[in-house]
Amino acid sequence: MTWTQTAQGRVAAEGFLTYPTAQLTSDASGGVVLDGTRYRSTAKPYLYGGGPGAGSYDWPLGRWLPVKPRSVSPDGSHYAYSTDFGAIHVVDVATGIDRTLKGLEGPDYVLYYAKEGVYFNQEWEGPPGPGLWLLDPVTGTVQAVVDPVFRQMMRELHTDTHILNALVFRSFNGALVTGVQMNEDGTARMDFDVPEADNDKLRALEGPINDMIRQNLEVRDDYVPVDDAYDQPGLIRSKSVAPPPTLDGKIRIVEIVGLDRQACGGTHLGATGTSRAIRILKIENKGRHNRRMRIGLAGSPP
Ligand SMILES: [Zn+2]
Repeated sequence: MTWTQTAQGRVAAEGFLTYPTAQLTSDASGGVVLDGTRYRSTAKPYLYGGGPGAGSYDWPLGRWLPVKPRSVSPDGSHYAYSTDFGAIHVVDVATGIDRTLKGLEGPDYVLYYAKEGVYFNQEWEGPPGPGLWLLDPVTGTVQAVVDPVFRQMMRELHTDTHILNALVFRSFNGALVTGVQMNEDGTARMDFDVPEADNDKLRALEGPINDMIRQNLEVRDDYVPVDDAYDQPGLIRSKSVAPPPTLDGKIRIVEIVGLDRQACGGTHLGATGTSRAIRILKIENKGRHNRRMRIGLAGSPP
């Protein structure tokens, strides 16, 4: 299935390539059109799906589907797709019956339709929460794939990156974050654009970070209109990434009470005191203004 951009929108063409002559035989039963906000087949029963760009042929049922091959069940009888704002649909190919198994929270992405169910990934807050999930296509129940110990560790690391970020922002005249990465071994790195970079002064933040952890500051969140968020200096802390706004144009603000407020869509602790202490492992120069700081939770590899 190929998609071509036209003045009327993206148009799908379907067919089969003959091997080895590369002869293309088009298949008129494979049409896909935009219907409202979703794409659907032109052949009945209508099959809805994601797109543009997605498409595959369901060999067991002999039908074109408006989804990628990985979103089709192993026996070809069903497929799954997600909409921009997080609903996950499961469709019975033979009847076209389209069930919404997860509501409008997201966005999230259907990763794979396996024998045991539909794997999807959610990056942002809102039930069920960030992480990897398995959806039962019959009952609609959702279970976490990532284990609770791992999730707790990521919450600790993520909350600690906020503390580090807040202290760098304060100590270095509003220095911004250019990148962040959390690792499975309990370490994280943050890249900062620090015009007056001083590595000793950065290294000396370890004590103050652990003070903030010990003070057990409350962490809470609220939502503000996107335009207001951009008007308040310091609320959008990352130079490159900001969380997606909600359907009504608001952005999530995470506050460490008494320390920091910044836009973020991730998962945090309820209070800083439930994090282990951290160490600053390394500071690397990544350019005249750019510093990469590596931190690790106590007990993580050196
Ligand atoms: Zn965050």
